[in-house]
Amino acid sequence: MNKKLNRRKFVTRSAAGVGGLLIGSPLAANQKQFFSDNEEGHTSSEKPGHFDLMKEVMKYRKIDAHAHIYFTDKSPEEQLEQGQRMGIDQQVISRYLSVMLGTPEQFREYNDLTIKAMKKYPDQLLGGFVLNPHYKKESLEEIDRCADAGMIGTGELYYQVKINDPLYFPIIEKLIDMKMIIFSHAECQLGVGGYRMKYDGHKEPNTSIPEDFVDVAKRYPEGIFQFAHIGGGGDWEYMCKALADSPNVYVDTSGSNNAEGMIDFAVETLGEDRLFFASDNSYYQGVGKILASNLTETQKKKVFFDNYNNLLKKGGRNVD
Ligand SMILES: [Zn+2]
Repeated sequence: MNKKLNRRKFVTRSAAGVGGLLIGSPLAANQKQFFSDNEEGHTSSEKPGHFDLMKEVMKYRKIDAHAHIYFTDKSPEEQLEQGQRMGIDQQVISRYLSVMLGTPEQFREYNDLTIKAMKKYPDQLLGGFVLNPHYKKESLEEIDRCADAGMIGTGELYYQVKINDPLYFPIIEKLIDMKMIIFSHAECQLGVGGYRMKYDGHKEPNTSIPEDFVDVAKRYPEGIFQFAHIGGGGDWEYMCKALADSPNVYVDTSGSNNAEGMIDFAVETLGEDRLFFASDNSYYQGVGKILASNLTETQKKKVFFDNYNNLLKKGGRNVD
């Protein structure tokens, strides 16, 4: 920890970090007690004032740019409720294709589930569709079908085809025409001693990595690409550095990994306009890592809401 970090700031940052613990309790009452109980023994002459964590959490409008539904029995209500407790106004949802063939029957069925959920909760759920570029005709038709149903762009696309594979080109061109965000799962293993993704053991061979995004973003500078979950457990420093000179690639902050400094590093490397707040269903961690960063108020607003909504605006799909 930086010696100059004052106690108030330390308390603030720690508090955001334990948001997940606090949230489960009768919060408003408990958190006041939490902070006053922890004052004993500090020697600083600076008395930390009362800090209302949930006020901070609820202060920001939020669009969650990466969430999923129908992986639990009580979906989507369970995901909705958890998001609402963290002041998330809208979630961009999809049912992910993951490791499977991704036939047209499968992706249509999954998109139908997403459409059903977003029709039920139109103010809270924004639908993202899935497809598989191996099936060009069916995928292009599916984009039209899903757009007609009110979906806003792709949900998290998966392992079936790398994002820079020529199979993707007609899909990407159509999404560009429709001013939709092109959003794909991505990975980047932690590099140790020069080691990097080898896909020789537990990785799907068509997993998109940062270099694939750099490549496709250069080919399609008018495309808007969303690189999934820098907090997904990979080498986020490497990801950000690799994407630094690809201005049309945006990263979403989701994932269950919350290394200290990740958000600050991403903003320093990519700029404050290229991050989307997202949870990937790790709702508490998702909000906590933004609050615990050193971002300014304006930067937090951009990350939580404006950056994503401004891109939705291009296609007239913004939420306000
Ligand atoms: Zn993913």
